[in-house]
Amino acid sequence: MADLLGGKGANLAEMTRLGLPVPPGFTITTEACRSYLRTGREPETLREEIADHLAALERRMGRRLGRGEDPLLVSVRSGARVSMPGMMETVLDVGLSDTSVRALAGQAGDDRFAWDSYRRLIQMFGRTVLGIDGSHFDAALAAARREEGVDTDADLPADRLRALVEEFKRVTRDRGGREFPQDPREQLALAVDAVFDSWNTDRARRYRRQEHIPDDLGTAVSVCAMVFGNLGPDSGTGVAFTRDPATGRPGVYGDYLRNAQGEDVVAGYRNTVPLAELERIDPDSHRRLTGIMATLEQHYLDLCDIEFTIERGTLWMLQTRVGKRTAAAAFRIAAEFAERGVIDDDEALRRVDGAQLAQLMFPHFDPAHRGEPAARGIPASPGAAVGAAVFDSARAAARAARGERVVLVRQETNPDDLDGMLAAEGVLTSRGGKTSHAAVVARGMGRTCVCGADTVAVDEAARRAVLPGGAVVEEGDVISVDGTDGSVHLGEVPVVPSTVVEYFENGGVVRDGDTGGTGPAGDGALVRAVDRLLRHADRRRVLGVRANADTGGDARRAARFGAEGVGLCRTEHMFLGERRRLVERLVLAGTDREREEVLAELLPLQRADVTDLLTAVDGRPVTVRLLDPPLHEFLPDLTELSVRVALGGDGEGDDARLLRAVRRLHEQNPMLGLRGVRLGLVVPGLFAMQVRAVAEAAADLRAAGGDPRPEIMVPLVATVRELEIVREEAERVVADVAAHRGPVPTVPVGTMIELPRAALTAGEIAGAADFFSFGTNDLTQTVWGFSRDDVEGSFFGGYLERGVLPASPFETIDPAGVGTLVRTAARTGRATSPDLGLGVCGEHGGDPASVRFFHEAGLDYVSCSPFRVPVARLEAGRAAV
Ligand code: ADP
Ligand code: MG
Ligand code: MG
Repeated sequence: MADLLGGKGANLAEMTRLGLPVPPGFTITTEACRSYLRTGREPETLREEIADHLAALERRMGRRLGRGEDPLLVSVRSGARVSMPGMMETVLDVGLSDTSVRALAGQAGDDRFAWDSYRRLIQMFGRTVLGIDGSHFDAALAAARREEGVDTDADLPADRLRALVEEFKRVTRDRGGREFPQDPREQLALAVDAVFDSWNTDRARRYRRQEHIPDDLGTAVSVCAMVFGNLGPDSGTGVAFTRDPATGRPGVYGDYLRNAQGEDVVAGYRNTVPLAELERIDPDSHRRLTGIMATLEQHYLDLCDIEFTIERGTLWMLQTRVGKRTAAAAFRIAAEFAERGVIDDDEALRRVDGAQLAQLMFPHFDPAHRGEPAARGIPASPGAAVGAAVFDSARAAARAARGERVVLVRQETNPDDLDGMLAAEGVLTSRGGKTSHAAVVARGMGRTCVCGADTVAVDEAARRAVLPGGAVVEEGDVISVDGTDGSVHLGEVPVVPSTVVEYFENGGVVRDGDTGGTGPAGDGALVRAVDRLLRHADRRRVLGVRANADTGGDARRAARFGAEGVGLCRTEHMFLGERRRLVERLVLAGTDREREEVLAELLPLQRADVTDLLTAVDGRPVTVRLLDPPLHEFLPDLTELSVRVALGGDGEGDDARLLRAVRRLHEQNPMLGLRGVRLGLVVPGLFAMQVRAVAEAAADLRAAGGDPRPEIMVPLVATVRELEIVREEAERVVADVAAHRGPVPTVPVGTMIELPRAALTAGEIAGAADFFSFGTNDLTQTVWGFSRDDVEGSFFGGYLERGVLPASPFETIDPAGVGTLVRTAARTGRATSPDLGLGVCGEHGGDPASVRFFHEAGLDYVSCSPFRVPVARLEAGRAAV
C-alpha cells in the first residue's frame, strides 16, 4: 500500500505483520496530505482520526503522550511512495515539555538523556515547524562543546544540556516568533502539518524534477512510539544493508553508533563503527539483527536497507526498504538471485536497466586509489575525467591543443563554452542541475560532467576554486571528476577500463571467480551477471539489434557487442580524406565524359569499402545508405576559398572554377537543401555508381563462397516518385552486374523515413520500398523544426529547466509527436506491403526509453552505435518481459 502509506509507512506495517520488533504507531495517508496541499487546510476529520489513533496507541502502550510518570514520546515521520532521501522532514521526541522532561529523566534514571532528547526536539521543531535556520542551533551547540572542552554532543553533561534547552527556547522565541509549545498534542498537530508542508520545499521540488517524480503524490506521515538509542553505552542506532550496495557482494554491511539517536549516524559528525563491531559490543542484538535481515531479504526477495535502534539491549526496527544500489550491484544482485532460483530471469531482467549497463561500459576510477572525495556534485554525464583544472574555455581549448588533458571548471557554462567543453576531458560546474547547459551539452558530446557542486567556490576571474575542506585548486592543478557518482577528487586518480567492455571485446569470455579486482563488483562476478542477463534478454526480445557502422572494423566490433548486422552504413564517410579531390572534380565536371571518368575512379574505391563491410559481417544484413549530405560539405570553405582566389589574382584557374561551384552550391539551410535523394537525382550517375559498387562487391564475395547480404537505402525521400526513380535505376544496375559479372544476391531497396511527408504518405511509399528505416534524428529535427546542431547548446537548457520539454527529443523519442508519425507510417506502410521491413537508425536506437517505444510500435529492429548495442539488447529484452 505504498501509494497510500508511503514507502516508509507501508514497510513499517509489513515488518509489524512479519512479527518483527517495530515500535507501535500509525500512518496518516498521502490522501490526507494531497487534500491538505490542495486546499491549504487539513481534511475535516483528520484531527479527530489522529486523536482516535493516538488514544489507541496510548492504550496499547499504557502511557500517555507527554503526560504522567512515564510519558509516551513519538516521532512524526515523512515518507512518500518513492523514497526521496533527506528531502523531507521528520520530528523526533514529540511530547517532551518542561514537565515531561523531568518525568522522562526519572523513568530512565538518566537526566542527561532526558535533556538531550528535549533539546533535540526543540531544535528539530524549530527548524521544521517554525522554519528557523538550523545554524542558530548549531552555533549554540558548538559553543557549548567548546566551553565544556568536549568533542561531541554525546559528551555534554546534563546541566549543560539543560542550559541549552533554555537557549534553544530563546532562539525559538526570537527567530520563530512564538514560544515552544508545551502542549504535546499541539506539538503533534503542528509537526504533522510541517511534514505535509515539507513536500513542497524548494529542495524537494528540485529533487523531484531531477528524478522525474510527479509533484502530486504527496507524503504520508508515520507517527511512531519513540525508542531510544541515546540511553547510554548499551544503546545505539545504526543503518545496515543486507548486502554490499556498492558491489552487490553477499554479506551484511552497515554502520553503528553507540549512545546516539536517529540522524546522528548519517549526519557524519561522529565516527560510526562497522556493523561487525556490534557483534563484539552486543552479540545478542547482533545475532537478532542478522536474523531479521535474512528474513527481510527472504520476504522482499531483494537487497534491503534498514534503520535500527538498540535501547538498553533491546533491538527495534525503524525502517526498511528495497535498497538503492550502484549499477554494478544491481546486475550482480539480480543475476545471483536468479541463479539461486529466488527470482526468475524475467524478474532479474526487470531489476536492471540499460542506463545502468551503459554506466558499466565507461572507464571508472580505481576504487582502491580514490579515497574520500574532496567535493560532490550532481552526476550529470558518466565517465572518469582526469586533467588540469582550467577556468575558462579559451584557455582550456588552447591547453588541450598543446596535448594537455584538461577539466573545464566553471560556475556554469553557456554556449560560448562549447569549444572548451569539446576540448576538455570533463566538465565541473558549481551551479545548475541535471538539465543545466553543462549537463545537457556534455551528455550530448559524451563528455564526463559533474554539475551543481555547490560546495565548490569557483572564482573564474581569479582562476581558482576553493573546495569545502579549504583546499584550493589553481589553474593547472590536476583534478579527477567522476561523472558516474558526482565525486570530485584532488590529484590524479588512476582510471581502469570497463571490465564489461573487455568482456565484449574478448568475444564474451567470462573469467572465473570473484577476483575482487579493480572492477566495480569484483570483475568475474559482475561480468558473469551481465552475461547471464544479456543472454536472457536475447532469448526474450523480439526486436532485432543492428549497429551503425561505416567500416569493417566498426562492424566487427559491433558484432562482438552482439549486433545482428549493420543497419546503417553512411557512405559519406567514404568520400573524405584523399577522396575529397575526386568529389571536387565531380562537382566541377563540365561534361558527361569528365563526370563519368571521376565516377569510374570512385567505383573501385567504393567497392573496396563495401567489400570490407560485407566481409566483416558475412551472412548478416548490411544496409548501405546512398550519399546523404549536401555536396558542399566535401568542398573547401567558402570564405577561405574566396581569400585564396582573391590573393591568387587569377580569375580563371581551378580555384576560381571551384569557387564558382561552391558559390552555386552554397545554401542558407543546407540541411533542408540539395542533399539525400535530391542529390542522386541531380548528379547523374552518382547513385548508380554506388549501387554498382555494392552489387559488384556482393557478386564477387558470392563467387568466393561468401554470403553477402547488402541492402540499399535511399535517404531523405519525401515522395514515392523519388524512390521509384532511384529504384528503377538500381534494379537496372544490379541486373547489368548480374549479367556481366556473375550472380548477385537479391538486393532489397528501401528508404529512410525522416521527413514528415514521407511518414504521412508511407502507404504510397511502401509500394516502392522493401523496407523503411526511420531516421529519427532528421525526423525529430523536421517535426519539431529544431536544428539539431544548434538547439542543444542554446535554449534547450532553459526549456528543460522550465519543463517545456521533459527530455531532449534528440535523446529520447518524443512519443506524442515524432512517435505518432512513426506508428502511423509503420501501420500504413504495412497495410500496403505486409512484408515491409521496419527499422530505426539514429541515436534513439540506443536510448533505453526509445527502444521500449520501438518495441511497442512493432518495428523489426533498431540500429545504434556499436557501443550502445548491448544497451539496446538489454532494453529490447526488458520491453518484452
Ligand atoms: P528519513 O526518511 O530521513 O530517514 P526517518 O523518518 O526515517 O527519516 O527518521 C529520521 C531518523 O530518526 C532515522 O534515523 C530514524 O531511524 C529515526 N527515528 C524515526 N522514528 C524513530 C522512533 N520512533 N524512535 C527512534 N528513532 C526514530
Ligand atoms: Mg529513515
Ligand atoms: Mg538523415
